[in-house]
Amino acid sequence: MNKDIYLTNNLNNKKEKFVPLDKKKIGMYVCGPTVYDNPHIGNARPLVIFDILFKVLKSKYGNNSVNYVRNITDVDDKIIKSSKEKNISISELTSNIIKGFNDDCKYLSLDEPSQQPKATDHIDLMIEMISSLITKGFAYEKNNHVYFEVNKFDDYGKLSNKKLEDLIAGSRVEISKNKKNVEDFVLWKPSFDDDPFWDSPWGKGRPGWHLECSAMSKKYLGNIFDIHGGGIDLLFPHHENEIAQSRCANNTKSFANYWIHNAFITMSNEKMAKSTGNILKIKDFKKNLDGQVLKLALMSSHYKQPLDWNKKLINDCQNTIEKWYEAYSLVNQKITLNEDILSPLYDDLNTPGYIANLHQLYEKALKGNDTDKNIFVLACNFIGILNKTKEEWLSIKKKKLLISEVDILKNIELRNKARDAKDYNEADRIRNELLDKGVLIEDKDGKTIWKLK
Ligand SMILES: [Zn+2]
Repeated sequence: MNKDIYLTNNLNNKKEKFVPLDKKKIGMYVCGPTVYDNPHIGNARPLVIFDILFKVLKSKYGNNSVNYVRNITDVDDKIIKSSKEKNISISELTSNIIKGFNDDCKYLSLDEPSQQPKATDHIDLMIEMISSLITKGFAYEKNNHVYFEVNKFDDYGKLSNKKLEDLIAGSRVEISKNKKNVEDFVLWKPSFDDDPFWDSPWGKGRPGWHLECSAMSKKYLGNIFDIHGGGIDLLFPHHENEIAQSRCANNTKSFANYWIHNAFITMSNEKMAKSTGNILKIKDFKKNLDGQVLKLALMSSHYKQPLDWNKKLINDCQNTIEKWYEAYSLVNQKITLNEDILSPLYDDLNTPGYIANLHQLYEKALKGNDTDKNIFVLACNFIGILNKTKEEWLSIKKKKLLISEVDILKNIELRNKARDAKDYNEADRIRNELLDKGVLIEDKDGKTIWKLK
């Protein structure tokens, strides 16, 4: 394909032609989840957007030419707090959440990244990087803490367009008596009591969050690589700090060449944040919604624009997928996608433009022959839609529509009453009836829980 890929680069806020350092070894790093809680719909947006970018890069440069690294943050104050609240060990908490996260990625039918490194497997590299920053005079130690000295790095603030004076005047920095300057940020901090710790030249402790991405991107992609991505909330301070650490430790004039950020999801125009209680977990959608409906909704606005999450959006996407299945046909392996169809995605990942094209291809497929249908399905498949057969879709739909949540709970109550009355035949009948409707019930710790079979 001769078409070029264009991306909005936040280093200069311009749409630029993507020119890789080496088109056989393209490096893309995306900040992954902090595994203290199950991912919510806001976390799903970058997962879907960067999955599309991964697919676009693979389509142009070949499947084996793209090294997509998405890390897992498994050491963090939020994880320590959550494990204490839940009264479970950190490793139990993080392994549960990682499992849930991987299930969510499957539900959204995302391609697996090339690497999914965990921060706790790379502490030695982080210690190495901190030592190097101290030796070079960019970092200092005080009372078992190590800080990066921001004023030593002239380009600090260039990505986020912030001036050092404004940062000092603002309240965006953590105050600590150990710091030389308020804007300095932590690279290493001591651990106390039963907090997780690693031995280091600065005592028992753990790394600051920003450092892990600098250490892991260096290991898997080298000192300078092509694309760094994440949600817009990571632009400052996280990405700014990554640039400072990496460039100073590696003696380089650049770090990632293209910085791509997706905008927020709002809930009926109110920013989704934990404090407002507007949190919808990905796992909560599984009972009633197929992953491809959720995925289509997440792609319905351009990644640079906020996406408003509401009932109408979900209903519209459900109806669209429903309608598109009318033109479904099994794909004949001999047919390939005309690459021009991908044009909107090459143009700064214009997903709404691509969806508009899919609507046109659907109309053509509905009136057309098998080839038209195949092209339509292949174009849907490219973004992970219509990747289930029509039979699978109908059976999922049937299961999801056969019984409402209210009726499931009513049936569970009736079954528990039957069991209390030792009427086990009736209890089993209700259990089997639910099973026929695709609902599996389990008795655990004195409670009855249900899930879709
Ligand atoms: Zn990061």
